[in-house]
Amino acid sequence: MKIIHSVAELRRQVMSWRAAGERVALVPTMGNLHVGHLQLVEAACCNADRVVVSIFVNPMQFSDASGNGGDFEHYPRTFDADCAKLAAADVVFSPTVDAVYPNGLDAETRVEVPGISDILCGEYRPGHFVGVATIVAKLFNMVQPDVALFGEKDFQQLLVIRRFVADLCFPVKIIGVPTHREADGLAMSSRNQYLSRDERRHASILYQTLQSAQQQLIAGERDPAVIRSRAFVQLEAAGFRPEYVEVRRKQDLRIAKESDAAEELVIIAAAWLGRARLIDNISIPLRGID
Ligand code: AMP
Repeated sequence: MKIIHSVAELRRQVMSWRAAGERVALVPTMGNLHVGHLQLVEAACCNADRVVVSIFVNPMQFSDASGNGGDFEHYPRTFDADCAKLAAADVVFSPTVDAVYPNGLDAETRVEVPGISDILCGEYRPGHFVGVATIVAKLFNMVQPDVALFGEKDFQQLLVIRRFVADLCFPVKIIGVPTHREADGLAMSSRNQYLSRDERRHASILYQTLQSAQQQLIAGERDPAVIRSRAFVQLEAAGFRPEYVEVRRKQDLRIAKESDAAEELVIIAAAWLGRARLIDNISIPLRGID
């Protein structure tokens, strides 16, 4: 595995692979790798001849990137330990902030996906998905991969990426990888380390709440407001501060209506537990609905 920081060197490497007729996969990450990230790398190996893993903590997707001790500044950076986990990759690409945003964050061209960027997590984290779409578009142009892999844990992010790739005609196949969970069901996330020991014991209640909402839908409950308010009660009783719990159409995250019975649905949630903002989602198999 080779570590590359410069875009020019990365391009030379990718061009030589292409000249040899090899397919290239990209796994974009912000580092602090856990087993969930490594599943993406494994899936990448099955879908291409060469695998590039990018590690870049993207300031544009944090609202507090200018400092002041916020989430961006405190985001865990563990580059050497991450590289040690990436023996299966061909290249770890880790550009500097200046190389990615040479004009400064405020002056950069941005990618915005209307209708998806500003709902759910986008409502609580204004500008977040513009930052995500912009960095992923830049990485696609730097790496020029044939395929790119993203986790279904960040379901809204996956949809934002699928949409801009289609809308802007990027010749990249997007592959979603199922959420990797701890033994008790908690979705693995770099932010889980913000949980105290006591909070960690309760954290899987987020997934249990989604499972119970899934069961209610399968049992015939059709009123999203009922499902939402039961979920809020369950989460608040366990010490969470829920932002949203929503039943949405899986295809576009629009609000599910009665007439959407034939659509695949997803229950999607975000909730704070202590200092950690946790997100998760669960799909409703069509055949599960009567
Ligand atoms: P991040 O480093 O948090 O930006 O995540 C990089 C990629 O890993 C994203 O595509 C995430 O959706 C994915 N990812 C993070 N956690 C998990 C998980 N528990 N299971 C599957 N994919 C994940």
